[in-house]
Amino acid sequence: MSHPTGTSSNPPFDAGRRVAVVGGGVIGLSIAWTLARDGFAVEVHDDEPGRGASHAAAGMLAPVSEAAYQEPELLALGLASAAAWPEFADRLTRESGVDVGLRQEGSLLVGFDADDALALSRVADLLARSDLEHRRLTSREARTLEPALSPRTRSALHVPGDHSVDNRRTVRALVVAAERAGVRFHRHRVGLVVDGGTVVGVRRVVAGEPAPVHGADVVVLAAGADSAQVPGLPEAVRPAVRPVKGQVLRLGGAANLLARTIRATVHGQQVYLVPRGDGELVVGATSEEVGPDLRVTAGAVHQLLRAAIEVVPEVAELELVEALARCRPGTPDNGPLIGSTPMPGLLMATGHARGGVLLAPATSEAVSRLLAGLPLPGLVEPFTPTRFARPLNPVTEGR
Ligand SMILES: Cc1cc2nc3c(=O)[nH]c(=O)nc-3n(C[C@H](O)[C@H](O)[C@H](O)COP(=O)(O)OP(=O)(O)OC[C@H]3O[C@@H](n4cnc5c(N)ncnc54)[C@H](O)[C@@H]3O)c2cc1C
Repeated sequence: MSHPTGTSSNPPFDAGRRVAVVGGGVIGLSIAWTLARDGFAVEVHDDEPGRGASHAAAGMLAPVSEAAYQEPELLALGLASAAAWPEFADRLTRESGVDVGLRQEGSLLVGFDADDALALSRVADLLARSDLEHRRLTSREARTLEPALSPRTRSALHVPGDHSVDNRRTVRALVVAAERAGVRFHRHRVGLVVDGGTVVGVRRVVAGEPAPVHGADVVVLAAGADSAQVPGLPEAVRPAVRPVKGQVLRLGGAANLLARTIRATVHGQQVYLVPRGDGELVVGATSEEVGPDLRVTAGAVHQLLRAAIEVVPEVAELELVEALARCRPGTPDNGPLIGSTPMPGLLMATGHARGGVLLAPATSEAVSRLLAGLPLPGLVEPFTPTRFARPLNPVTEGR
């Protein structure tokens, strides 16, 4: 990743004990839960916790399969966070009583025509050069692993370390675990309150009379794709986050259809199928630079289903339970923004783009260290919120 301008240092944070988290998605909730366990007095502000991008995610914990899209620092952070997931999931399940549905069967990457096979072969070369565990499979071997795969599967790669988790169960578990750890939830949208150049708290966004201030020693901005639009945010610290629309489908009745995540290239089009323990199958996803648009389009549903049925013909028999659109918090280099900002009292944990579920353990651990007065882990250092020279306008730049 290149850091064109801005500081790359992220100094330890001298924090008081009251923390306000703006945004209750997988990132804000993981941070709130972790900080409450560290002994901070934490309040989460969100009118609909868990209903943003975290509601739409496929829950893949897949740094290796994503390696082709990623720069080396992001890959390293993703691998570290993936390695932290089993313990994170264990603790979360213990403290919430909610099984988060971690599946550790790995992923299968498959291609259909000659061009798809060539693209897959390039991915295999890249993984080999980066020493990332994978195995090339013949079509027959792939279908032995996953009998539901189409006989037209031409080539395949097994990536044993790329797993998945149920994103919605994870969010539910985080809310319960956070509440049990003492986190207070406020169901409203907030803006920042700045006094004398310091962020001193948040207040509800209402027309007319200013709402009372929820004072805080530290405010963590974790508002996902809306992070650049939070009211009261000074221009100098506006994060370079833009909405990247993703449409995704949930199908029912798929118990035992697939054992592991399938990521396919079908005549050049990418599609993934992620099985859940409860018989649900997640099929995704589009990636559209159209600004903050949450409409589900007929074209996207058609395109995703057509590709998914080509990969696993039995998908045609499943029930279409849900089609959903949400916006990923995209950044210019696809890396998150984690750490302190030039504005006293303000931390950021946003811009997790395609990997917020994957990166939740690493992000919450980094913020916890920062508030303990420790330096950020080296792997997180490249992701300083100040690394971009010019804030992006999320609407115009997203087109
Ligand atoms: C279709 C799709 C598939 C994906 N698949 C994967 C995947 O397989 N693996 C993976 O790791 N990642 C995946 N992602 C990405 C992942 O979903 C995101 O990176 C992650 O959810 C970001 O979490 P977040 O908490 O930052 O944002 P969100 O979950 O969007 O949460 C932000 C929250 O902030 C709140 N908020 C906004 N403004 C305010 C305000 N002013 N005041 C109070 N609250 C506010 C919102 O209500 C929202 O609840 C996918 C995303 C999409 C869209």
